[in-house]
Amino acid sequence: MIDSLLNIKIKTLFALIAILSVSIIALIAHNTLELHKDVLSRNVLCQETLSATTSQNNLNTYEQKIDKHFNRIYNLLVIMVLSFFFIIYIVRQKVLLPTEYLLEVIQTFIKGGRLQQTKRFYHDEIGQMSSEFFKLKDTLDDDLKRIRELAEKDSLTGIYNRRTFFKEAQHSIAHTQRVNTPCSLMILDIDYFKNINDTYGHIMGDKILSHVVENVKSCLDQSDIFARYGGEEFIVLMPNRDIQTAYHLAQTINQKVAQTPYLGSNALLCIKVTLSIGLTVCHKGNEIEDMIKIADNALYQAKNSGRDKVVVI
Ligand code: GH3
Ligand code: MG
Ligand code: MG
Repeated sequence: MIDSLLNIKIKTLFALIAILSVSIIALIAHNTLELHKDVLSRNVLCQETLSATTSQNNLNTYEQKIDKHFNRIYNLLVIMVLSFFFIIYIVRQKVLLPTEYLLEVIQTFIKGGRLQQTKRFYHDEIGQMSSEFFKLKDTLDDDLKRIRELAEKDSLTGIYNRRTFFKEAQHSIAHTQRVNTPCSLMILDIDYFKNINDTYGHIMGDKILSHVVENVKSCLDQSDIFARYGGEEFIVLMPNRDIQTAYHLAQTINQKVAQTPYLGSNALLCIKVTLSIGLTVCHKGNEIEDMIKIADNALYQAKNSGRDKVVVI
């Protein structure tokens, strides 16, 4: 497409240059011929009939004509040179720059970089192609973002799903072990959640899940990795938190959730929920699966000892 477009443009320009050159050459040839014809006729006339003075006058007129003729040729040459530069300018503006720009757009797209929307578009076919390319890239970016969100996040609560949690957690644990910093993990489970579903219905159950997530999120830092582990269970990996600070955080979350009931729009609805939390810290050589196993045991103990509490192992 670009090839043919360029070909058409370049061929048109070359045709224009050729037509211009041929016209100029034809004009010069025509003028020269005319001049020669004039000289010949005047020479014949001078030799046959005219006096020396008249002959001299004719010679002067002839010289003036030659000057005029050469001036015309000179002007034509200047026009030719100017036209040449003008054509080069047009080729640069209309073909080279837009093509370079389109190439840049495509290369940025291939490398996955962000395109600069501030760049102006050229108002020709190549410019339109660049503009369409931008639109395509934006659509693809949006689609990719949506696909990523679907793949990485839990659709109900918007936090990481289990798969992303494992990926992020493995990376994070490896880092904390490398730099020898503490790292803790907690599993949180909503108490008697089945009762909420049974009493208020699943739609309300979903709202309660999102409500709890918002409350937990408000207690966490950017560095904490928070995910929905499954059903009404959540998990938080806390890089850089030792067991004391992690325990303090778990208690804060527990209290916050217990003290922030879900309030319905009619103010009569007030649903209280509590959490049971199992907490552990990462020991040297531990993997994420080892930590989850221990935190699960701690959660089991929390459930068995009355719920609404934090148990550390
Ligand atoms: P426990 O205190 O022992 O944890 O009791 P529980 O009722 O919370 O636990 P159980 O495992 O008996 O029930 C969990 C319920 O959570 C059952 C399931 O229907 C519900 N659930 C899981 N995922 C969702 C969801 O996405 N939305 C809703 N509304 N309910 C869910
Ligand atoms: Mg539960
Ligand atoms: Mg559960």
